[in-house]
Amino acid sequence: MTGTKEFAGRVALVTGAASGIGAAAARWLDAQGIGELVLVDIDRPALDHLNLGCKVKPIGGDVSDPSLWKLLEREVPQIDFAVLNAGIATNGEITDLDIAAWRKTLSVNLDGMFLSLRTALRAMKRAQSGAVVLTASVSGIKAAAGTAAYSASKAATIQLAKVAAAEAAKYGVRINAIAPGGVDTGIWDRAEWFAPLVEQHGGRAEALAAMAKDATPLGRFASADEVAAQIGFLLSDAAATITGTCLVSDGGVSL
Ligand code: NAD
Repeated sequence: MTGTKEFAGRVALVTGAASGIGAAAARWLDAQGIGELVLVDIDRPALDHLNLGCKVKPIGGDVSDPSLWKLLEREVPQIDFAVLNAGIATNGEITDLDIAAWRKTLSVNLDGMFLSLRTALRAMKRAQSGAVVLTASVSGIKAAAGTAAYSASKAATIQLAKVAAAEAAKYGVRINAIAPGGVDTGIWDRAEWFAPLVEQHGGRAEALAAMAKDATPLGRFASADEVAAQIGFLLSDAAATITGTCLVSDGGVSL
């Protein structure tokens, strides 16, 4: 254990923890000596493969389901830190986007944020302390054709974090958003347009590198571990005066 004292023995909630940024955030918190991780993901079996040293409470469920949060409020009385991160990407121009895809995206990405944030804040309000990070996206700041549902959900996530920060400051709780650009995670592999791109470039890494080169001034995507460390900074005492902000970590995409 190499961590800073504010995490030792505390309880952290991470949603979307089975993969990508969420799994990396769980590993980062584990390395800081967190006491217990409450990990939520729709892919419950994948939560068993994270190899964490701390106490872990894995919970399988859909973040947009209010009954999941009711159960969590009964079973998890203490939440000191929260990384609200579960999300899905949806593509399609508005003229081709059906209401089911729109609602699904808003439901997971925004209802899920609201419900998980409400649960975390209820616990933190009782304790009169805590810190939360919501994973938004540069898509919530900069427009890109074909991302209406995803971008709308992420812009709303940034504003949700700001309003929550305005409300929670009086009970000693900080809330920030992070807006990554491209990050090398499984979210790309879940998009149906990605497999042909991998074939075209002769490999997954090559496809991601080509996309990053085209779209990112710094010329590369972030790793999940890099974004997790930035989330960790926002949770830590080093960010004690930072609340209601959105940390843009996009390699310059939004310049
Ligand atoms: P990922 O697909 O690797 O991880 C997302 C996790 O969320 C998965 O484990 C998945 O099972 C879980 N999940 C999906 N729907 C869920 C639901 N309804 N209930 C509970 N869990 C659910 O992707 P990632 O890149 O690590 O994404 C994490 C967050 O980062 C998302 O909010 C995403 O929008 C955001 N983000 C990602 C990128 C990127 O380039 N990868 C960029 C900007 C923002």
